Parts: sequence; C-alpha cells; structure tokens
Amino acid sequence: MPRRLDNWINGAASAPSTAAYTTGLNPTNGSPTVDIGVSGAADVDHAVACARRSADAWRHFPSAERGRILAAIARSIRDNADRLADREIEDTGKPRATALGEVENSAAYFEFYAGLVNLPVGELLDVEPNQHIFTKREPYGVIGVITPWNLPLNQAARAVAPALVTGNTVVLKPAETSGQTTIALARIATEAGLPDGVFNVVLGAGSTVGSAIVAHPDVRKVAFTGSVRTGRAIGKVAADRVIPLTLELGGKSANIVFEDAELDLAAKEAVRAFASNAGQVCSAGTRLLVQRSVHDEFVAEVVRIAAALREGEDLGPMITRAQFEQVQEYFEVAAKEGARPALGGSVTRRPELAGGFYVQPTIYAGVSNDMRIAREEIFGPVLVTMPFDDEREAVSIANDSDFGLVAGVFTSDIGRALRVSDAIEAGQVFVNSWSTGAVQTPFGGHKNSGYGREKGIEAMYHYTHLKSVVVVY
Ligand code: NAD
Repeated sequence: MPRRLDNWINGAASAPSTAAYTTGLNPTNGSPTVDIGVSGAADVDHAVACARRSADAWRHFPSAERGRILAAIARSIRDNADRLADREIEDTGKPRATALGEVENSAAYFEFYAGLVNLPVGELLDVEPNQHIFTKREPYGVIGVITPWNLPLNQAARAVAPALVTGNTVVLKPAETSGQTTIALARIATEAGLPDGVFNVVLGAGSTVGSAIVAHPDVRKVAFTGSVRTGRAIGKVAADRVIPLTLELGGKSANIVFEDAELDLAAKEAVRAFASNAGQVCSAGTRLLVQRSVHDEFVAEVVRIAAALREGEDLGPMITRAQFEQVQEYFEVAAKEGARPALGGSVTRRPELAGGFYVQPTIYAGVSNDMRIAREEIFGPVLVTMPFDDEREAVSIANDSDFGLVAGVFTSDIGRALRVSDAIEAGQVFVNSWSTGAVQTPFGGHKNSGYGREKGIEAMYHYTHLKSVVVVY
C-alpha cells in the first residue's frame, strides 16, 4: 500500500476534502512513489482560516521567542538531514550531495532569520516640537507561497523563514509532484514549537489550489516561484486585488568569459553554472559568452569537463515527465535552427537509465543570440556558447534577453569586472565564481525574471509593510 501525503493544516496532517490522490513518480525510473493529496478550494479556505486565526497571536509573540522557534526549526532540519534528503531524492531524483546541500541551505535560512528577528527596525523622525513621529514595520498577515518542483525544500524555506520571523502566517502550495519535504518541513516546524495554524501546506494543482490561494480575500501577499506564464496570470489577479507580489521567474543567464580570465577555473565554473541540479535552476548560466580569441579552445575545455559528468550520478534526471519532454522538444528546435551539438543533444544512451527522465549534458557551440535555444529557458543541462569581440559587445549580447536574473563575469581586470557588473541588467552578478548559494545575498530578477527580492535582510522588507505613527502632544 503506497504511503499517503496529506495536507498540513493547523499543526496536523489533514486529508484533502476531495478525498482525491494522485500518484507521484520517481523520475529516476518512472516507478510510483507516494499518493499525493489533490486538494480543492475548501482546503484552501480551511488553511487560510487557520492562518488568519493564528496571525494576531503570532504577530504579538515576544520577538525573542519567535527567533528561538526559528532556531529550533533550523536545528531540527539538520537533525533530520538524511531523512529529508531521502524524500527530496524520491521526489526529484537529484544526486544525494545536491539534496543534502539543499537541506543544509534550508536550515541556514531559518538560522539566519532567527538571528535577525528584531530587524528591520523603524525610524524616529524629527519634524516639529511637540510631535513624536516614528515608523514601524508590520507583517501583512496571511502570506500565500507557491513553489515549483526544482528545489522544493529550499524554495519553501527561502520564503517561509523570513515570512514567519516578521510575524506573518503562511499557506504554502508546493508543486503537484514534489510536496514531501515541504510537508516534512511543516511537521518539523510544529514539533519545534511553532504554534498551530502559523504554517500550513495545501497540496494540489495550480489551477485550483494555487489560484484559490492567490484569489483568497484573506491572503494579503503572495510569493511565487515558477514560470513566466504562471507569474503573469498571478500578477493579473494580484493587480485586481491590489496585493503585493514577489515573482521569482525564469532566466537565460549570461556567463561572460574574457580572454584575460583564469581560464581553467572559468571552465569548471561554466560547467557548474549550467549543469547543477541538471540545469533545473532558474539562475543557471545557460548562455556562455566567450571572447573570440579564446572561444574555441575554451569551449573545447568546457565540453571536455561536461563530458565527464556521469548521468545518473553527477547529473540527475529531469524532475517531471513534462520537463523531460520539454527538453527533448528543444533538442528538435536546435536541430531545426541548424545548431549542431558539440556535446550530447539527446536523451541518455545509458541502457540502465532508460526508464528515467535522463538527458545528456548538452552544448551547442557558436550559436547566434537570436535562435530560440539562446533566448528561451530550456530548464535542462543545455548550454549555448557565443563568441564576442570586446566588452561592449559582450554586454550588449548579455542584455539582449527577455530575462535578467543573474550573470557571471570572468576576468582578471577588476575595473572591467566592475564596469560589466554595472552594465548588466540582472539582479545578481557573480565575478570569477558562479556562486548563488548564500542565504544572506538578496536574490531576484530584472525584466521577465520577475520582481521583488527573496533572501538576505532585503526579503524582510518584502514580507512587511511600513506604518508611520504621528503623535502630537
Ligand atoms: P509553473 O509556473 O506552472 O508552476 C509553479 C507553481 O505554480 C506550481 O506549484 C504550480 O502548481 C503553480 N501554479 C500553476 N498554475 C497556477 C495558477 N494559475 N495559479 C497559482 N499557482 C499556479 O511552472 P512548472 O510547470 O513547475 O515549470 C514550468 C517552467 O517554469 C519550467 O520549464 C521553467 O522554465 C520554469 N520554472 C522556473 C523555476 C524557477 O525557480 N524560477 C522553477 C521551476 C520551473
């Protein structure tokens, strides 16, 4: 009898009111995993009612106590690291080291925000005698969080920790296929002392549960991570409801390598940039721009390193069947556009992986930036490379994109690194390293990559709004 995954509402497991379940698939071999609840709008109503009921008490908890509970959640995540990694691997197929890294990062979010519980602070304003004017930041109330399937635990922790520490309550919907670690996180939070109703998880489809969360009159802010298409749809509802929204959408991030860079390091980082989590990362570096004088030789080295990635060991599968199909469609698009792979370009050829959703690490060298494979987010381990002649052209190609999430710059000239970082239209720029990990670093996009910021102290501003109090005496 397969295990059942139920909602977590008001501090306890809660079967969906629909009594409906769908079977999860293990992406490494297509076998059934766990029966996942398919909830309806009534479950959202129930979860939001619990979140609303608990909001006032949670907001007025002694702040040190809120911080202590978040710190206890961080400790418990670490204590349960192996079990959480097992569940994440079952849902996503990712390599164990990647899953454990995600678990550690999730603990780090709770730890970081636990220590910041008394930030952000307000201001005292000097205006007139006999006036005492101050500002304070207040929670919104109930926050709706909607997450995708690529880094489920990490994306849940990234939003939930700053939302809770600032005194909000949460109703979260994970992606249809990958809710196990989010439910485990909610259970851990309850066991660590989080009051019932403060963090609720409702499983189910985006079109029903997701849209019910966004439309619910008691949800006062939404934090969404996922596709541009869904982000737009949610944005329209949020605009009608006049509620704030954080959108973390896709990317087609440029990684720029100049001829004066430390090329061995840059080549290793270029592979990490596009192949981590099998390319299923919104901040993946999937457009590699290389100065023409070293382009061919550098790309040959990148191909050599990427070719050594072992499918099924270093490189996990595509996490959903739909994503597996999407990447294959892009292989066909590439062929039609006349791009020939310098590496890969098909599903895995390893017979023992044939039942899973595996694709080869793939590199299309010397493409043009107007091809679809250079403009659209593929969300798999697929890299395109382009030569450029000088700094101006590099920046111009990098910015010639609908997206603007992150960028990399590899050069030994610090002046150039700073000039290019300044000119790039992206929310984060990495110089001489492809490093997106730190929970302290604000994260978010320009253009179609979204707006608002997660992570860092900055996220705490996005989960609170400002009140000015004017006292005349
Ligand atoms: P998606 O946008 O369809 O789903 C993301 C989340 O939104 C899921 O929980 C989904 O159930 C929910 N959702 C869907 N429709 C909704 C609606 N109308 N209202 C409210 N919630 C809704 O993305 P996906 O299908 O998971 O992935 C498709 C593409 O999105 C990928 O190929 C990739 O390009 C992109 N993606 C980006 C990220 C990222 O981190 N930025 C992560 C995963 C996927």
